[in-house]
Amino acid sequence: MIKKIWQKIFETSPATQAKSHELRVLARDQHHVSRTQISKNALKVLYRLNSENFEAYLVGGGVRDILLGLSPKDFDIATNATPEQVGKIFRNSRLIGRRFRLAHILFGREVIEVATFRASHQESSSNHAQTSTHGLLVRDNVYGNLEEDAFRRDFTVNALYYCAKDLTILDYTGGLEDLEKRQLRLIGDPVTRYQEDPVRILRAIRLASKLELTIEKATAAPIPQLASMLEHVSSARLWDECNKLLLAGHAQKTWLQLMDMTVAEHLFQQTTTQLNQSENAENFHLFVNKALESTDKRIAQNKPVTPAFLFAVFLWEPLHALTQQLISKGLVPYEANQKAAARVLDIQRKTIAMPKRFSIVVREIWNLQSRLVHPKKRGIESLLQHPRFRAAYDFLCLRAHESENLETQAAWWTKIQDVPYEAQQKMIRELSPTSPKRKHSKTRKKRNTGKYAKRKTDPKAS
Ligand code: ATP
Ligand code: MG
Repeated sequence: MIKKIWQKIFETSPATQAKSHELRVLARDQHHVSRTQISKNALKVLYRLNSENFEAYLVGGGVRDILLGLSPKDFDIATNATPEQVGKIFRNSRLIGRRFRLAHILFGREVIEVATFRASHQESSSNHAQTSTHGLLVRDNVYGNLEEDAFRRDFTVNALYYCAKDLTILDYTGGLEDLEKRQLRLIGDPVTRYQEDPVRILRAIRLASKLELTIEKATAAPIPQLASMLEHVSSARLWDECNKLLLAGHAQKTWLQLMDMTVAEHLFQQTTTQLNQSENAENFHLFVNKALESTDKRIAQNKPVTPAFLFAVFLWEPLHALTQQLISKGLVPYEANQKAAARVLDIQRKTIAMPKRFSIVVREIWNLQSRLVHPKKRGIESLLQHPRFRAAYDFLCLRAHESENLETQAAWWTKIQDVPYEAQQKMIRELSPTSPKRKHSKTRKKRNTGKYAKRKTDPKAS
């Protein structure tokens, strides 16, 4: 009992520490968030909840991004209605999540996420919150009020609430000031907050890269030390988070941060081992970097991207290292390569649960490489029609960039896609049984022989 009282007095829970900040309210004429920037569906949900006498606010990325002059990716709503009450009000809703129960309201392809106000779990003794032996919050369903909800959010800039009734913005944690300073700051004690949920490490890196914010000193400092806690996060959740990290249009910058803060090794251990140790490390660095750069470019141009492509890149050097190892143990190259591919993917999936439909694509990209490097006359047309041809070709082009001496092959494949059908057929007919590169040198040799022969037999020829 006495121990508990002492704990209550001296405990510096994230909430109690951070609550020193005063509530700041911005009236409509003190901010530039206008209803025209908010999705109509999000507004509908806010109005409807308000009309049912529930509190409801726009929060998170929706408010933060508009204040930063960006257009939000999605809109999140916080309310005092429970998920079940939300479910009853909106017929187009479904309840999701165990660790964190939420309502999704569906408007065609748009999903509005509605979360019930939560309290910090330290302030409750109920069994609606649960921590694992590592301090991870495995259940977070303790409902609270608006103020409590603000303090259990991750970063101050993510805890700004927009009220559709009086058009004010409420700031309990100093998010407005941090936005002005363009910094990302965790609410409360950073170590405790990362321990509760190590995914906040990835969110810090992702949001800082995406929004061009600096991670505030105390928020950044524990990251390298605590990054190993990511190993306790479920591999399914890490798959989702990695997709957000790498397919949001800022992969190159994000990857650099992941490497700098020694986080990457807890997600892509095989990749970082090769990047740090292998003889080919420098080329592999360039290869990875080029792939990330081209992913960002494709996203900027609204072209489709698949995470499988990046995984194929990340695991390319590990695949080679293991193949070589298996060959040295006596396996024939093909068998060694196939075994290595399966094993490398299995190891990666233990950390990041890439679904089968993507790992199949990774293997297809890898397997098509030898057919692209050593094309055979009979296989060209079917290869051009292969559903994974384009990805495998892009992969080859990236390899060609990084000193693998594959420029000729890549150029041949670029050309054959560009020329009309007749010319394609001609290219195929002219293809020697070996690779385009070998073919060119043979042609040159042949031509020389021809000229030489001509000169020899016909003195007038030159
Ligand atoms: P994005 O632009 O990627 O959607 P976001 O900040 O809106 O960024 P969401 O995943 O949509 O990210 O989360 C919505 C809000 O929920 C966040 O802004 C934050 O307030 C809260 N949140 C999300 N994940 C966490 C977490 N792990 N811990 C605490 N709060 C979180
Ligand atoms: Mg969001």
